[in-house]
Amino acid sequence: MAEAAYAQLVKDARVTFARGRTLPVEYRKEQLVKLRDLISENEEALYEAVYKDVRRPKAEAINFETLMLLNEINTAIAEVKNWSKPTKVSRNVLQLTDSAYLHKDPLGVVLIIGAWNYPINLLLAPLIGAIAAGNCVILKPSEVSQHTAELLAQLIPKYLDSEAIKVVTGGVEETTALLKQRFDHIFYTGSTAVGKVIMRAAAEHLTPVTLELGGKCPVIVEKSVDLGIVARRVAWGKFSSCGQTCVGVDYLLCPPELKPKLIEELKKVLKEFYGDDVKASQDYCRFATDRHFDRVMGLLNATKGTVVHGGSHDKADLFLEPTIVDNVEADDPLMQEEIFGPILPIVNIADTKAAVAHINAREKPLALYMFSSDQASIDYVLNSTSSGNVTINDTMMHMSLDTLPFGGVGNSGHGRYHGKFSFDCFTHEKGVLHRPTGVEKMIWMRYPPFDEKKIYW
Ligand code: NAD
Repeated sequence: MAEAAYAQLVKDARVTFARGRTLPVEYRKEQLVKLRDLISENEEALYEAVYKDVRRPKAEAINFETLMLLNEINTAIAEVKNWSKPTKVSRNVLQLTDSAYLHKDPLGVVLIIGAWNYPINLLLAPLIGAIAAGNCVILKPSEVSQHTAELLAQLIPKYLDSEAIKVVTGGVEETTALLKQRFDHIFYTGSTAVGKVIMRAAAEHLTPVTLELGGKCPVIVEKSVDLGIVARRVAWGKFSSCGQTCVGVDYLLCPPELKPKLIEELKKVLKEFYGDDVKASQDYCRFATDRHFDRVMGLLNATKGTVVHGGSHDKADLFLEPTIVDNVEADDPLMQEEIFGPILPIVNIADTKAAVAHINAREKPLALYMFSSDQASIDYVLNSTSSGNVTINDTMMHMSLDTLPFGGVGNSGHGRYHGKFSFDCFTHEKGVLHRPTGVEKMIWMRYPPFDEKKIYW
């Protein structure tokens, strides 16, 4: 699509928004119901598309993509009326006769750019908030997950109001042209490097952004927990989706004395999950493209650590076996960037204090995980580190609870969503002070001419 066509698309959406079409709460609910229908009436086709894109097994697609969406849609349908109501705020003595409240305005025409690794969820979850808040939306699915992108581009106009919700497909060239347009908000999910491109383009129009980026999510392991449980929960958080999850485990920080047992438990659990021949397992995903495979293999080939499990690979099948690398040092290639693949580095650390120092010497992670039954130690980690979110004694699960805000901090992004936070993300809370006209006698002191008696604050 040429730049002029994008300009027209955004202009049309602005006209729709200005007509007030997306404003009534009943309209928003109706669109949310249709979004729910889109998912539930096309589940099999959606799972098939995601399978073609990243070989995601159906059970994983249900758990990570559609179930969370359906829960969020149901919450939004039930709550949108309440969320949209003005919220009263407290007043001080000068405003006793007034009413003061937050009026909830939609932002206008917003752009949502999705990523390929959860191509249904990462495009449609922000859309729930954008619709609930009363916006017009331009959606840009990732070109990397092309089967899902094409399917959603067909389904969305069939189910949703195409005057208010439009889909643009394409890659870097199309996104670059689209970003020249003026939006009222840009919601981007993807890498930190591209996040900077988005923010620069948005700055041109002073458009606010939500950036859902990546990073290296660490796991701190303490001796107070059952290592069998740690291994199962870490393996799930690392190797689901072939390691391609933004909140997936990136690396383990582990005291040396716990390692032999933990590695043994990890090997056991991997056999339990994927059998003796991982490649033949129907439950193990693949890389999305050659480019992604090559990047992760480059990191594995360059590591100075010791591969203690896995490592077998097949580029033609975009396959890398779940791989564990021990004795990884801070300067190792595996520790320089987000791995986003099925490699689990284990870094030796003396204790939790050293783990905190290690984490704080790096960019702020999207999620931090800790396995411990020592509350004082948990409090210490919570108080002395900064990350988007934390899950204690499990991995990734914070993202499934929509009463918790989801998002990053620092290099892992900014802004937050899920549940009511998604509504807030696409809403301007306009502060309103409503004053009666009959209180002139109470405010006489503010008017000139001034004298000593009129100094009242
Ligand atoms: P991607 O390649 O799908 O890119 C995301 C979007 O950016 C796509 O729509 C793509 O077209 C667009 N894009 C890519 N390059 C661009 C450019 N130069 N200019 C303009 N647009 C461009 O996704 P990815 O970046 O490979 O995703 C992986 C990263 O995303 C990882 O770092 C991961 O941690 C992160 N991620 C974060 C979250 C989160 O919720 N915080 C979720 C998923 C993925």
